[in-house]
Amino acid sequence: MPSLTNLADEARIALDTVADRATGLWSPSLRLGVTGLSRAGKTVFISALVHNLVHGGRLPLFEAQASGRIAKAYLEHQPDDAVPRFQYEDHIADLVDRRVWPESTRAISELRLTVDYESASAWGRMFSRGRLSIDIVDYPGEWLLDLPLLGKSFETFSREAVEMAKSEPRRDISKDWRDLAASIDPDADADEVLARRLFESFATYLKACKEDGLALSTLPPGRFLMPGDLEGSPALTFAPLARLAEGRPRPGSMQAMMARRYEAYKTHVIKPFFREHVARLDRQIVLIDAMQAINAGAAAVNDLERALTEILSCFRPGRTSLLTNLVARRIDRILIAATKADHIHHESHDRLQAIVRRLAERAIARADFSGAAVDVVAMAAVRATREGTVSRSRETLPVIIGTPLAGETIGEDTFDGEAETAVFPGDLPESPAALFRKDTAPAAVPAIRFVRFRPPRLERTAEGVTLSLPHIRLDRALQFLLGEQLA
Ligand code: GDP
Repeated sequence: MPSLTNLADEARIALDTVADRATGLWSPSLRLGVTGLSRAGKTVFISALVHNLVHGGRLPLFEAQASGRIAKAYLEHQPDDAVPRFQYEDHIADLVDRRVWPESTRAISELRLTVDYESASAWGRMFSRGRLSIDIVDYPGEWLLDLPLLGKSFETFSREAVEMAKSEPRRDISKDWRDLAASIDPDADADEVLARRLFESFATYLKACKEDGLALSTLPPGRFLMPGDLEGSPALTFAPLARLAEGRPRPGSMQAMMARRYEAYKTHVIKPFFREHVARLDRQIVLIDAMQAINAGAAAVNDLERALTEILSCFRPGRTSLLTNLVARRIDRILIAATKADHIHHESHDRLQAIVRRLAERAIARADFSGAAVDVVAMAAVRATREGTVSRSRETLPVIIGTPLAGETIGEDTFDGEAETAVFPGDLPESPAALFRKDTAPAAVPAIRFVRFRPPRLERTAEGVTLSLPHIRLDRALQFLLGEQLA
């Protein structure tokens, strides 16, 4: 594998890390990265995590909270002024007061949560001030998928993109872009208008991959789907070419222009993102929407596995890379979490977790994760449903009860966003393997009934205090990610 960054980048990362350490002496801090492809549940996860800590939520598996050692958790100013703040208050107002899902992650943002706690050991109490600042960094997983581009020329990138687009299930939706790309002479004079058309057509194809029915995971370049503050920037006005010049492209030609912009994207977009953000993380949670992929079928499940493998490889760039040699501080805990487990009955939660484990298995085997703890969990950051049973003739069915979003349908029924309903969600298969096999007849994989629910109505105590957001296994995730830091 080619080295990821040049020596100057490495030196800068090492310096940044030392600077972080020096300030870290004043107040210990931990940088927790939260990522996942769009709609995986990052915004909801961070909102629920903070809300539950600030409001002393029910977190029996999060030891520090369960044993009453957390004195206080509160928001503070974040250390990085150049990064937008995660809009926690707005998101909570949406979730709790209006019962709508908050606006999803579109770019990087940050929030500092500080926890005052009492150490569990007498030794610790003597020395530690019992304060930990957690810098939560929310960023699109799409941006991580760009890492492999650093080792690829424009020509290789083009060939691979065309290859992928020609194969099923992308073949049909990529046709318009492939036709346009095939009509472009790489040796013709550079044409800005044509470049823009080609970019737009390529981006439209990438977006179509994400639609519900297909639910394919994203392909790079990550900013084509999640441009962040680069929306409309010329740095993004390039696309792979289907026809390539033999040898070096002629200066001033279409291919030369595309290749130059591709290199600029690597230098000015990809590298700074890894250097300034990813390289500084201590912990990482990767959220995945396994339910949506399962619903869409084997192609989507396999594609999610591919994307997850690429995402995870960013946190362990391999022994040969300079990055591993020079970055002293690096991620030592990674949690892969499937959210939205509240869409299925608890009897299936362990099955969902087994599916996540299977999805991550190859990535874990492939990357060198020695020195880092990796775990998986099936959870719901916000639990929008409760469980019940419905008796039908002699059968008792386990159901989930919630308020489907306005416009959701089951069979003939369309919901208005107000009425509660009981849904029999179906069971996940006992063996995850069935979900990955393309030859499995659809009937052999039991369909799960997937309805989107509104956020839950929060209970209030007799004094009118709103309780914290309900969840499934959020406490287990917190214990893995933060537990020993608060011991
Ligand atoms: P992001 O793009 O990763 O920030 O995704 P969001 O956090 O905005 O989540 C996308 C959508 O998934 C939300 O609008 C919700 O509809 C749904 N969602 C996310 N987390 C949960 C959860 O814990 N339970 C339920 N029922 N739905 C969730």
